[in-house]
Amino acid sequence: MTERLNPLRQWMKERELDGLYLASKENRRYFSGFIGSNGHLFLSADAAVLVTDPRYTQQAEEEAAGWRIATHGLDPMPTLREEARGLRAKRIGFETDHLTDGAITRLRAAVPEVEWVPMPDYGLTLRAVKDEGEVACIRRAVAMGDRALMRLLPRLSPGMTEREIQMELEYLLAKEGSEGVAFDTIVASGPRSALPHGTATDRPIRSGEMVVVDFGAVYRGYHGDMTRTLRVGEPEPDLHRLDEVVHEALEEAVRAVRPGITAGELDRVHRRVFEAAGLERYSLRGLGHGVGLHIHERPRVVIGSEEILVPGMIFTLEPGLYVPGVGGVRIEDVVRVTEEGVEVLTQCPRRLQIH
Ligand code: ZN
Ligand code: ZN
Repeated sequence: MTERLNPLRQWMKERELDGLYLASKENRRYFSGFIGSNGHLFLSADAAVLVTDPRYTQQAEEEAAGWRIATHGLDPMPTLREEARGLRAKRIGFETDHLTDGAITRLRAAVPEVEWVPMPDYGLTLRAVKDEGEVACIRRAVAMGDRALMRLLPRLSPGMTEREIQMELEYLLAKEGSEGVAFDTIVASGPRSALPHGTATDRPIRSGEMVVVDFGAVYRGYHGDMTRTLRVGEPEPDLHRLDEVVHEALEEAVRAVRPGITAGELDRVHRRVFEAAGLERYSLRGLGHGVGLHIHERPRVVIGSEEILVPGMIFTLEPGLYVPGVGGVRIEDVVRVTEEGVEVLTQCPRRLQIH
C-alpha cells in the first residue's frame, strides 16, 4: 500500500504538516492495508509506523507492507507518545471527525511540545477518486445489492411487515456474499415512507402504498448503497405523482454528471425538476454522497457545494420527496464520473412492483 503514501505526503506538505496521526479505520485500511479493529498510524516524510496491540501484531506485519509495526500494552498511551515523539515533527495533523475530545486531550497532554493540528474530513479528499481496485470492489457491492433486491421481490406480498422484509433482504445480501450491511436497512411503508430514515417496524405493508427500501452490501470494506420505492398494488394518485417527479429528477441528474461540473450545480439540476413540479419544499438539502470505505464520504452532493467532480469519483444520486402524512419516494443509484461523462453502476430497474 506504499504507493498511496506519496500523495498523502504531498497532501501533508501542502498543509505544512511534518507529521500525521490517523486513527480512523477507513484511513488505516486505505493507507496501510491493515484491516484489524485497533490501529494507529504515524507518518512523517521518512517514517511510517503502525501501532496496534498484541492480538494483531502478526496480521499487521502481513497486511501493512512497508510500515514498521509497534505493539502497545494494556494502556496504549506510552507507545503512542513514543511514536508521536519519534516523528520529530513540529506540526502533527489529526482527524477531528474520528477522535474523541478525550483522546486528543490526552495526546496533547502527553506530547505538549507538538502543535496538534485538527484536520476535518481528513483523507477523504484523497479517497474521493477511486482507483481500479476500489472501483471493482464498489461495483461488486452494488451488484450484490441489485441481485438481492431482485431475488427479494417475488417473495413480497401485502401483509408482510417491514421487519420481515428487512430480514429477508439482509439474508439475501448475506447469501450474495455481503460482509454485512452498509447501515441500518431502511424499510418504510405507507405514511412512514415520508420519514427519510425510517428503519423497519412491525407495520404490515398494504396494497395502494409505496415502500421505501434503502440498503447496501459491503465487499472488502467497500459499500454499496441503493434505494428503491416499491409500488404495492396501485398506489394513490398523489403518491404516483411524487414517484414520477422523483424519477424525472434522477434521470436529469444522471444526464448532467460530467467532469468539471460542481456538486452544487448537480444538486441544482434535480432541484429544478422539483421546483417545476411545485414540490421542492418536500425535498432535503442534498442529492447524494460519495461511497467507499465509508458509507458517506466525499464528494458531498449538496446545496451550494463548490466541489468539482472529476473522473474516478463514485457517489450516490438519491433524489427524494417526503410529504408528511402522505408518504415519500426516494430512488438512489450509484454513479461513477468517467472521462466522457457518467457510468451508472446500479443495474436494478428503478420501477419495481409488488403484486
Ligand atoms: Zn441509501
Ligand atoms: Zn445514500
